[in-house]
Amino acid sequence: MTRLAAIGVLLVACCSAVDAYVFLNDRWSDGSIVMHLQLGSSGTLMDGRPSWNASAEDALASWNSIVDRVKFRVVRDSSAPIGDNNGYNNVFFSSGIYAQSFGTTTLAVTTNWYRVSTGRRTEADVIFNTAFSWNSYDGSLRRTPSGATLADLHRVALHEFGHVLGLNHPDQGGQYVAAIMNSSVSSIDSLQIDDASGAAALYGGAGNSGGGGGSPLIAPGAPSDLTAAASGATVSLAWRAPTTGGPPTAYVIEAGSAPGLSNLGNFSTGGTTTSFASSGIGAGSYYIRVKAANAAGTSAASNESLLTVSAGGCAGAPGAPSGFLTSVNGSTVTLRWNEAAGNPTTYLVEAGSAPGLSNLASSDLGSPATSFVASGVGRGTYYVRLRGRNGCGTGPVSNETVLVVQ
Ligand SMILES: [Zn+2]
Repeated sequence: MTRLAAIGVLLVACCSAVDAYVFLNDRWSDGSIVMHLQLGSSGTLMDGRPSWNASAEDALASWNSIVDRVKFRVVRDSSAPIGDNNGYNNVFFSSGIYAQSFGTTTLAVTTNWYRVSTGRRTEADVIFNTAFSWNSYDGSLRRTPSGATLADLHRVALHEFGHVLGLNHPDQGGQYVAAIMNSSVSSIDSLQIDDASGAAALYGGAGNSGGGGGSPLIAPGAPSDLTAAASGATVSLAWRAPTTGGPPTAYVIEAGSAPGLSNLGNFSTGGTTTSFASSGIGAGSYYIRVKAANAAGTSAASNESLLTVSAGGCAGAPGAPSGFLTSVNGSTVTLRWNEAAGNPTTYLVEAGSAPGLSNLASSDLGSPATSFVASGVGRGTYYVRLRGRNGCGTGPVSNETVLVVQ
């Protein structure tokens, strides 16, 4: 005899919150749990997955990475008969729960059949409510253009498959924890430590040995608040460590020439420091994001930051130097001026035999210093001025002074 014990329901919004993982009363015998994915075609989803079934299969794989004594097995695009207590674990969209209706805020349900004589689970169907608009995406919850909830199949599938394994809602057990198994959908889009701990407690798990202190090792959540700044060709990044998932052991920095691309850089920092700096970065625009990583996996990306590195560390040629003065002592000439705006890297001195001419000298001083001493200057009258120069160009001329060397 089998009996329908409970139906797990994931709500759009609701409820009080929590303590730690909570179980249903029945679990599967050790071995395979065969899931028949029957969600139909979708077109490419927002997270790039090609189908509903691919999104659901990834969610099953996430649980498989935690548990030991049972493993989900997937029948892709299954044609198994769909029915309540028919011996198949059907995963599908429907407008109802067999003979029952969905609650108006219910995204999905998982049925729970078990054999009374053994207390072992025998069937779990996962039914997604067609009354909602669905996609598959990471991060914060999104809305449709009309303002309705855009349901994320991936995180709802993670939740429902947790019910399939035998987990229940920690928040309805009086526990306040971060968990995909909480009764309301949220920005949590991946398995959390509490989820993994619960699953590993039911079925054992690699999760129990990897994280130190007996806590299961799961992939980190996404870092946040990434900022990027350039000073010349030196780039500085800073971000916040993730507040969900397992502890990171390193961060992965990605940089691309367009949003979402990593064609210009993709490397691990190799450490847990939440900042990074590098010099000698070439001019260009970089779309940068950071991910957190540990042995269990790599998180979703942080926010993306657009960084522009200018040629030679400048945004344009320098402005005109001001306050240009000269003084003479015998054949030694001293020049002084105020620094030009716009990060000059050197100055160009021009001297001519008449105002505006440069027929006597045009000399790059090779330094951003704002004074210069020349000795052994020949007799004559010099009309002198200077300009700032950097990798972006040579700026306009300063005031001109007349210098007489006798
Ligand atoms: Zn639920």
